[in-house]
Amino acid sequence: MNAEVTERLRLRNGLRQAIDRGEFVLHYQPQIDLASGAVTGVEALLRWQRPGEGLVMPGRFIAQAEESGLIVPIGEWVLAEACRQAMAWRLEGLAPVTVAVNLSAAQFARGGVEAVVQRALRDSGLPPDGLELELTESILLNNTEQVLAVVQRLKGLGVRLSVDDFGTGYSSLSYLKRFAVDKLKIDRSFVADLLTDADDGAIVRAIVQMAQGLELGTIAEGVESESVAHRLAELGCREAQGYWFARPLPAADLAAFLRQRAPAGAP
Ligand code: C2E
Ligand code: MG
Ligand code: MG
Ligand code: MG
Repeated sequence: MNAEVTERLRLRNGLRQAIDRGEFVLHYQPQIDLASGAVTGVEALLRWQRPGEGLVMPGRFIAQAEESGLIVPIGEWVLAEACRQAMAWRLEGLAPVTVAVNLSAAQFARGGVEAVVQRALRDSGLPPDGLELELTESILLNNTEQVLAVVQRLKGLGVRLSVDDFGTGYSSLSYLKRFAVDKLKIDRSFVADLLTDADDGAIVRAIVQMAQGLELGTIAEGVESESVAHRLAELGCREAQGYWFARPLPAADLAAFLRQRAPAGAP
């Protein structure tokens, strides 16, 4: 018990210092248009280069960052860095791709997320439609006027909005009507066994059909094989992301990936 408390304190202190010490780094995972094979975007995923412990994955620290409120300054760093990097790629002449950033509920609850997004766009020079914010169902299920107002103002900035891990929340789907989101990210748990589990196939098909009716985009997460990618395309899913195409990559590797995939004649 004591050791556990000590470890949590150590984690929290480490997180508090990590921004100033420059220990956070973003990796970027390509998002692929299933019809053309083109890279349409990248998702920025946070990693922590913790001294003596190597690269720490978000599963080991995001929850603690959320509980302690440290996700607010960390999230601010993520937004600024993702926009800066995306703009740097454009200035290098790489084909423009959207950069998607994950937002936590705490960043909404504590307010200020809109000003933070605005500042990240202004400081980087990235056009607003080059940024996508990934919201979780838990943010949107918090179907309050306050959240609605923030989401509308974010939308008003011209950024794109997607719903992450779609299908895993206990959703009343009515929020899709209220919140002007652009895209549903079909959760990995429905994608992994798509070929062998008839229920997963039915769920993915239903999500894609609903999205088409609502004129929303769809992207499947966690695509690990060509056959799953093929099946998703058959079902009408527009985009995909997963190890089959690429793992999350350091910025330099992602740039190399973009250069390799650029169609002939592209800048
Ligand atoms: P997420 O937003 O749903 O991100 C997708 C996760 O699936 C990533 O894990 C990614 O590496 C992993 N993934 C991608 N393709 C595959 C695949 O084909 N197979 C499998 N098994 N996994 C795949 P990661 O990077 O460990 O991130 C985990 C979660 O941490 C994210 O889930 C997101 O909820 C959270 N997270 C990451 N970065 C941030 C951040 O900057 N801010 C916030 N608030 N949360 C973040
Ligand atoms: Mg995400
Ligand atoms: Mg996700
Ligand atoms: Mg997920």
